[in-house]
Amino acid sequence: MARKFFVGGNFKMNGTVSSIKEIVDNLNKAQLDPNVEVVIAPPALYLVFVREHVKKEIGVAAQNVFDKPNGAFTGEISVHQLKDSGIDWVILGHSERRTILAESDEVVASKTKYAVENGINVIWCCGESLEQREAGKTLEVIAAQLAALRSRVSDWSRIVIAYEPIWAIGTGKVATTEQAQEVHASIRAWLAKEVSQKVADETRILYGGSVSEKNCKDLSKEKDIDGFLVGGASLKPAFVDIINSRA
Ligand code: PEP
Repeated sequence: MARKFFVGGNFKMNGTVSSIKEIVDNLNKAQLDPNVEVVIAPPALYLVFVREHVKKEIGVAAQNVFDKPNGAFTGEISVHQLKDSGIDWVILGHSERRTILAESDEVVASKTKYAVENGINVIWCCGESLEQREAGKTLEVIAAQLAALRSRVSDWSRIVIAYEPIWAIGTGKVATTEQAQEVHASIRAWLAKEVSQKVADETRILYGGSVSEKNCKDLSKEKDIDGFLVGGASLKPAFVDIINSRA
């Protein structure tokens, strides 16, 4: 089964009603490659607004979700509330949540399990710090993050993996096509060995980290790069060029 190219836009904690409306209007008007699945992730406050205004072919993702059905969890949003609002994706394990909000591999795995088992698709992020890369530990770090996920999750059909080297996020310092392809291929090999060949063949592995309209074409040609998770550039009109990188 061919893997459908996937481009996600992570707005992070950016935007206002008017700037997000502008992004949505721009996407609604644009000619987007129909062979690409597009999902955008605005801040929680704007999820319903975006779902109501963006064209239905574009998916909408939350940037976090909790792993309990409902109750006394101040500040959290449940999987059921997302579904009730027509939101069927969530980003989990983003390095900003792992580092700034101290979410462990286990917490991320537990949230991912709860989301996929209750019908929400997950963009699950992993990646190494600069220190870990320089110490030659990239593949080891990612294997440990994947192993924590595998210990909780058995259905991988709702998971898209985003490889996001932390040193490339928001820095303008993109991984070379060779660096990205090497890690993507090793994630796929890990899936084949530790989960199944079918999951390895079918799971989309995105690259994230300073993707722009300038570098997306070369990255998109790599065999194991099935799309992008885009931060800063998803707030700009150039996001359309990234979506259309293979057109
Ligand atoms: C991200 O936050 O997921 C990301 C990849 O950010 P940026 O594209 O800005 O590096």
